[in-house]
Amino acid sequence: MSLNRLVGRIAIVTASTDGIGFAIAERLAKEGAKVIISSRKAQNVEDATKKLTKDGLNVHGLVCHVAKAEDRKRLFAEAEKHGGLDILVSNAAVNPEVGGVLDCSETSWDKIFDVNVKSSYLLAKEALPLLRESKAGRIIFISSIGGLQPFNLLGAYSVSKTALLGLVKAAAIQLAPENITVNSICPGIIETKFASAITTGPAKDFSLSQIPLGRFGRPHDVSGSVAFLASDDGSFVTGENLVVAGGMSSRL
Ligand code: NAP
Repeated sequence: MSLNRLVGRIAIVTASTDGIGFAIAERLAKEGAKVIISSRKAQNVEDATKKLTKDGLNVHGLVCHVAKAEDRKRLFAEAEKHGGLDILVSNAAVNPEVGGVLDCSETSWDKIFDVNVKSSYLLAKEALPLLRESKAGRIIFISSIGGLQPFNLLGAYSVSKTALLGLVKAAAIQLAPENITVNSICPGIIETKFASAITTGPAKDFSLSQIPLGRFGRPHDVSGSVAFLASDDGSFVTGENLVVAGGMSSRL
């Protein structure tokens, strides 16, 4: 990988000390961006920052639980300290409960919507003053193929990801006159801790049978698509929800 499409850009990637977020941070930095990485646990932030800086990448880490207003504020202050913000990747999500959508407890529903939807919305809103200063502002949400084709056992989580698809459409129209693009990536089944319940053990074979390409995705299968949307190559793409899922069915 030898592209330099993001030289001079500054990016925030939330939930980026592991899994898909880590791969996105690594890819954006490899393409030349200065990347602010974060997650809830200080030790994870320290480990991930060390790993990426050891590879010569320009990354800066801090703790940020996306549902905490104070943490989000510090995230944008950090970006400002480093020169502003061009790219916001909102990647954090939780799924505290497995089950059908109408079996979800109110507590879990609130947590899912608080982290997956409301925090993504607030991050985008709070990023705007800095993105408006950029020549090529980008907002990229990490949704899920479950937002298009709900997973039976991830009912409420799937609905939260559908909400992000709508947010993309509405925000893209609002921000188009300011040349800020808004898109999402909808990953299929990607091998991370989050997906381990369906990529290992008894569920593995059924999960694989749903993927025409015959394999689970890897975090770097997602990060390349994010880099495309973040770069000038993606400058005429807005309001889109890009499925990266090995051919899994994805019609809403
Ligand atoms: P993962 O491997 O479990 O990584 C989770 C990362 O998020 C860790 O760095 C964790 O660090 C951080 N994190 C968790 N809650 C957070 C919070 N409230 N605020 C800030 N950071 C938080 O998960 P993943 O599979 O990469 O998932 C990333 C995104 O992709 C999610 O939006 C998920 O819905 C989406 N997605 C995943 C798949 C899949 O198959 N894996 C498919 C479709 C969509 P700390 O513990 O230190 O906070």
